[in-house]
Amino acid sequence: MLKEISLAGRHALVTGGATGIGFAVAAEMLDAGATVTIVGRRPELLEKAARKLGPNCSFEQRDVTQWDELPAFVKRIEERQPIDILVNNAGINIKKDFTEFTAGEFDQVIAIQAKTPFILTQEVVKYMKPRKKGCIILISSLSARLGMVNIQPYTISKVGMMGMARSLTNELAPHGIRINSLNPGFVDTDMVRQTNVKTPERLQQIQDKTPLRRFGKPEEIGMAAAFLASDAASFITGTDILVDGGLSTSFLI
Ligand code: NDP
Repeated sequence: MLKEISLAGRHALVTGGATGIGFAVAAEMLDAGATVTIVGRRPELLEKAARKLGPNCSFEQRDVTQWDELPAFVKRIEERQPIDILVNNAGINIKKDFTEFTAGEFDQVIAIQAKTPFILTQEVVKYMKPRKKGCIILISSLSARLGMVNIQPYTISKVGMMGMARSLTNELAPHGIRINSLNPGFVDTDMVRQTNVKTPERLQQIQDKTPLRRFGKPEEIGMAAAFLASDAASFITGTDILVDGGLSTSFLI
């Protein structure tokens, strides 16, 4: 089992890997022996993260919603080292009353969490197919399984990620490529603090409703992602894996 868990010799591309969950995914995959390329828009955060993650981590500053540039970007990374694992993690959230959302805000959320994973996966899969191996992970969300208020564009994009994983399973399986969505519950990151959990009361409410009575740690999502990417998960494809402390079994408004 220990050898199946190993990611030695594999290369992972992690979008949004400088912060929060993406950083933890990168750290856990590095710990399992992979080399990792992290991507994000803010150079200072990327540099700091890569320094912390060590010599097997490199970074690329990029807005991954610049879709026209993605084919050349993926080609360049591939030429440096073939991509064995793609983690579509980069994301944003906007929380407000349903009737207040503008069309522009809807587009912004869908752009990064639906169109980017679609196009990036397309590009990466072109290289994975002839090699007959690969693993795609979409960081979806518990919100795709529940009805959470005031984050409808986010929820729509996260349901889309689950749909993308399912609809690609049959197409990719003959090429040795597995694809799954990983659905975190509430995890302590900047995103959650800036959108969903702005008050101590809300924090308490979520903890009280979570059977394990706490928020998730980014590394707990990172470990699940590393497992999914490894040969220990070789029969897991086309599904969504909830990592939520049991919250999906509770009722939360
Ligand atoms: P963060 O805000 O820390 O992470 C988001 C990352 O995405 C940042 O590193 C950001 O970097 C990057 N990013 C955003 N837009 C772009 C872009 N256009 N191009 C390149 N990079 C981009 O929050 P989390 O770690 O919490 O979120 C990571 C993922 O986990 C998201 O998809 C989120 O929806 C999902 N998730 C989080 C949960 C939680 O409780 N925290 C629960 C369920 C799902 P930069 O701004 O520098 O570009």
